[in-house]
Amino acid sequence: MFKSIQWKLVMMFVLLVISVIIVVGIYLSSSVTSFYHDDFKKKMDRVFNNDDIDFSGAAVSTDQLDKVLKSFIGMLGIDTYRNYFILNPLGGVYQSSNMELAGDLEYTPNMIRAMRGKKTVDVKNNKDYMDYAIPIMERGKTKFIIYIRDEKNDLNEMTSELFNIILKALAVGLGVSMIMGYFLSSTITIPIASLTKKAEKMAAGDFEQMLEAKSDDEIGKLTNTFNYMASELKHTLEEIASEKNKAETILLNMTDGVMAFNVDGTLIHANPVSRNILNIQTFDDKEANFDEFFKSLNADISIGELIYLDNNKTLEREIEINDVHLKASFAAFKVEKEKVGGVVVVLQDITEQQKLDAARREFVANVSHELRTPLTSIKSYAETLLDGALDDRETAVSFLKVVNNESDRMTRLVKDLLILSRLGDKQVQWNKTYFSMKKLIDEVVEKLTLSAKHRKHRLTFTLVSSLPDIYGDRDRIEQVLKNIVSNAIKYTPDGGEISIFAGCVYNEVYVKIKDSGIGIPKEDLSRIFERFYRVDKARSREMGGTGLGLAIAKEIVLAHNGTLSIDSELDKGTEVTIKIPVA
Ligand code: ADP
Repeated sequence: MFKSIQWKLVMMFVLLVISVIIVVGIYLSSSVTSFYHDDFKKKMDRVFNNDDIDFSGAAVSTDQLDKVLKSFIGMLGIDTYRNYFILNPLGGVYQSSNMELAGDLEYTPNMIRAMRGKKTVDVKNNKDYMDYAIPIMERGKTKFIIYIRDEKNDLNEMTSELFNIILKALAVGLGVSMIMGYFLSSTITIPIASLTKKAEKMAAGDFEQMLEAKSDDEIGKLTNTFNYMASELKHTLEEIASEKNKAETILLNMTDGVMAFNVDGTLIHANPVSRNILNIQTFDDKEANFDEFFKSLNADISIGELIYLDNNKTLEREIEINDVHLKASFAAFKVEKEKVGGVVVVLQDITEQQKLDAARREFVANVSHELRTPLTSIKSYAETLLDGALDDRETAVSFLKVVNNESDRMTRLVKDLLILSRLGDKQVQWNKTYFSMKKLIDEVVEKLTLSAKHRKHRLTFTLVSSLPDIYGDRDRIEQVLKNIVSNAIKYTPDGGEISIFAGCVYNEVYVKIKDSGIGIPKEDLSRIFERFYRVDKARSREMGGTGLGLAIAKEIVLAHNGTLSIDSELDKGTEVTIKIPVA
């Protein structure tokens, strides 16, 4: 309480009033004292320093002098406390207005001066009394001394009365100053208290209330400035919050992992993706230091080299964790102008990209290989022909047949590649219509009956249930059926059984192509739809296969929102199922 401004202001008021009253009191008391002395001296001078009044005539005897003095009692103000004495030149008392006091007289400077024949110039200002002495001369010698002595009782009474008045004034002044001080200081402290409350609320995050500036003075200006500061602060904080929200939303929803470490290497932030990739659940369970953390991931990097990295430079490392390939980009971030605050790490999952790259490389290698084989063959036959085989007509014809076959194979390969590439690029113009699947299967069976017959296969088609029309690209679906039935014919030893079943279940038309062929080993089944994947390359080539038939079929079926599955048992046979939803 005693530390409050209000208390200090009240104390200032009180001290001010006390000092004013003390100063006034001292001034008054000294004024009264000097007035009393002056008055005493004036009265004495009026009688004894007056040329009109001559005491020498009365100086014949003490009685005469006493008589004269008695006549001046009024002018001299003689009373109980002010008395006159008629002294002999040695200070002995002849006569007095109060003879009882005669024995108490002592030598005073004024009395001694008078003994030497000199009049009083200064009234003796003694604590206890004032005095005045006039020598009455006869023939140059002091005959009598008129000595007036005032006991100062009136002055003392007056002074104590004055002291009482001052004390009362002091008491009243103190009361008034305390009350005034309290109320006047309130005009300062109340706005300050409201400002303080508001500052506390602001510190707690509440920027809503505005203070009313009730005056135009410094407090009013302070209030207005405070209101302005509050609104600016609110605005700035809102901006910061919105930026923070934006950043958080970005971090939360971005597909890359983002982590931040401070300069001593402690993890300070990890977005959900990074936690997921690196299995960080909470900050506590991974208090790992940056260096230890990335060392454990076999990434050759340290926080030290990053902190001294040039502006806008990043370092990149590849990390592998649980079969996930990550590209980690490291950069230092600054908190002040030149002060590095820590390191940000962005983790990109490049597993898919790497797989894609590998697949692309493999695809290019496969294509080159597939093209090189017929080309080598064509080249070698052509060279043999040029070397003379051309002369042997029979050999020449058989060689040219091979060349012709090989170029057909290349044509097929290029055609299939083109189809696949278009399907992959989604460039295919789908010519979708409603058509009858049954009719389409009938046509395919009819078209392939001849090649089945060549291999002495029995090719049958059984309609399990009636088929509704389906919506799709008839030519492409025909290609799918042809690819699969051709495979069944190709990979079934002569005299095999190839049965086609078709039906409709739950709004889905299915076609099953079952053969009694060589089958596919279990380990190859999962890869059978990959481009160029063949169980037995030589056999496939021998049969004129490109290794792209099933891949093309799968792409087409997927584009019709359908599924293509294969089930097979080695040396027993294969069953391929196509399912296409009825539109
Ligand atoms: P290909 O042109 O070689 O026939 P596909 O993509 O049509 O290419 O087939 C890929 C591979 O799947 C074939 O090389 C073959 O090994 C195997 N395959 C496909 N259909 C059958 C089937 N009905 N019976 C046995 N193996 C098959």
